[in-house]
Amino acid sequence: MRMPDPDEQAIGRRRQLVEGLRRIVPGEGVIVDEESLTAYDCDALSAYRQRPLAAVLPETVDQVSRVLRLCGELGIKVVPRGGGTSLSGGSLPVADGIVLAMGRFNRILEIDLANRQARVQPGVTNLAISKAVDADGFYYAPDPSSQIACSIGGNVSENAGGVHCLKYGMTSNNVLAVEFVTLEGEVIRFGGGYDQPGLDMMGLLVGSEGLLGVITEVTVRLLPKPETQRAALIGFPSNRRAADAVAAIIAAGIIPAGMEMMDKPAIKVTEDFVHAGYPLHVEALLIVELDGPKVEVDHLLAEVEKIAKENGAETCVVSETEAQRLTFWAGRKAAFPAVGRISRDYMTMDGSIPRGQLPDVLDHIAELSEKHGLRVANVFHAGDGNLHPLILFDASKPGELEAAENFGADILRKCIAVGGVLTGEHGVGIEKRDLMSEQFSEVDLDQQRRLKDVFDPAGLFNPGKVFPLLHRCVADGRMIVSAGANYAFPDLPRF
Ligand SMILES: Cc1cc2nc3c(=O)[nH]c(=O)nc-3n(C[C@H](O)[C@H](O)[C@H](O)COP(=O)(O)OP(=O)(O)OC[C@H]3O[C@@H](n4cnc5c(N)ncnc54)[C@H](O)[C@@H]3O)c2cc1C
Repeated sequence: MRMPDPDEQAIGRRRQLVEGLRRIVPGEGVIVDEESLTAYDCDALSAYRQRPLAAVLPETVDQVSRVLRLCGELGIKVVPRGGGTSLSGGSLPVADGIVLAMGRFNRILEIDLANRQARVQPGVTNLAISKAVDADGFYYAPDPSSQIACSIGGNVSENAGGVHCLKYGMTSNNVLAVEFVTLEGEVIRFGGGYDQPGLDMMGLLVGSEGLLGVITEVTVRLLPKPETQRAALIGFPSNRRAADAVAAIIAAGIIPAGMEMMDKPAIKVTEDFVHAGYPLHVEALLIVELDGPKVEVDHLLAEVEKIAKENGAETCVVSETEAQRLTFWAGRKAAFPAVGRISRDYMTMDGSIPRGQLPDVLDHIAELSEKHGLRVANVFHAGDGNLHPLILFDASKPGELEAAENFGADILRKCIAVGGVLTGEHGVGIEKRDLMSEQFSEVDLDQQRRLKDVFDPAGLFNPGKVFPLLHRCVADGRMIVSAGANYAFPDLPRF
C-alpha cells in the first residue's frame, strides 16, 4: 500500500481540523476561504503578515473549551485575538495554526455599581465599558488611544496602559478577576474580589500575551468620574526643558491624571491633522491634566504653571471648558494616525525609562535618527517615562524596513542601558522578542519559559512570541530553539 506523502498528510490533518471545528462552532464561525482569512493576516504591526490555517469565532465558553481541546489533541497552534490592534505583533497568526478570534464575546454581563465593578466578556471594547456606566457617573480608567477598537481581553493580555495610567495605574491595577480556558478545555478563574487569600495568580494572566490560555471573562474596577478635569497645554523651547519640567512636577509631589509630551515633529503633524490649537513655534509640548475636587485642581494647576515657567515654558493655556480639554487630548490621541498621513509606513516603539533620563534619551534618539537615515516623531507618556518614538519609513524602498527595525532595536537597547525596560504597555510580541535576552539573563528567561510550560507544555499557545528564538537551556547548558518559535512557517497546502 502507498504511504500518503507529507502534503497529503497535511491536507488530511487540516480537513480533520476544519471538520472538527465546524462540529463545535456552527454556521459562519469557522473561516477557511483565502479571501476572508486576509482580515486575520496581521495586527497593527502590519509590516509582518501571515495567513493562518483557519479563523474560528466562538460564541460560548463551552465552544472555546471544545475548540482548545480539539487543537490540543491534534497538536494545532492557537493564536488568540481580540481587536487586532497590537503594535508588537502579539496577534500575528502562524501558518500552521488557527486564530481564535474573540470578537463575538462582546457582551457586558453585569454592572455592579454598589461594588464598583463590571463583569464583561473579553471582546467588549475598552471604550464600551466607560460608555456603559457613563450616565451613572462612573468610568473604567485605563484608556489606550486605541480604546475605540481594542478589546478588554487584549488589554488584559498586554497589560495595556493609556494617558491616565500615571495616576490610576495600568490594566493590572484595574482588573479584579479573570476567567480563562486552558488547552485541556478546563475553565479557571483567578481573582474575584478586592482581596484574595493565597498566591496572586492574576498577576500571571495580566500581561501574559496570549501565551497561557484564552480569556473568556474579565471583571474590571469602575471608578467614580472626578468632579473636575482640566488640562494645561504648555510649550517649551527644548525637549530638555520639557523633560526637566516633568521631573520637577513629580518631585513637587503632584501626580497629574496624565502628563504627555510631544516633540516638534509630532506637534506639527498632529496639529495639521486635528487643529487642536497646539503652538507650532515651540520645540516640545506637555499636556498636563489634573482631576479631582475643583478647588484642588485649580490650586495644583497654578503650581504646575509656576513649575513650568521656572523650567522655561514659553506658552501655557489651561482649558476653560470641557470641549477645550477634549480638543487638547484629541490631538494627542490622534498622533499615530496623524503620522500615518505623512509617512507610508511607521513603527511605534514602546520602551520605558526612569523619568530623569528623558532628556538624554531624547537626544540619543535624535542621533540615531541621523545614523539610520530615518525621521522620527516622539509622542509619549512622559509622566511614567514610557516612550513612543514613531519611526517613519517606506517599506517599498529597499532596506528601509530593516533600517527601521535596527533603529527601533537601538532605541530599546538604550532604554535598557539607562535602567529602563523593553516595553511600557505594548507587550513584547514578535517585535521585541529577540531583545529579551538583552534585558533578561538566561536564568530569568528559563524561569519564564518554565512558567509557560506549566500551562502549555506543548507550546501551542501563541508560539513564536515573547521568547527569543535562540535560548540557552539553563538546566543542561544546551542551546535550544523555543518550541514553535518560528512564526514564518512555510505555508501548508490548502483545500
Ligand atoms: C492607534 C493605536 C494606539 C494605541 N495606543 C495604545 C495605548 O495608548 N496604550 C496601550 O497600552 N496600547 C495601545 N495600543 C496597542 C493595542 O491597542 C493594545 O496592546 C491593546 O491592548 C490590544 O488589544 P486588542 O484587543 O486589539 O488585542 P489583539 O491585538 O487582538 O491581541 C493582543 C494580544 O492579546 C492576546 N489576546 C487577545 N485577546 C485575548 C483573549 N481573549 N485571551 C487571551 N489572549 C488574548 C493576543 O494573543 C495578543 O497576544 C495602540 C494601538 C494602536 C493601533
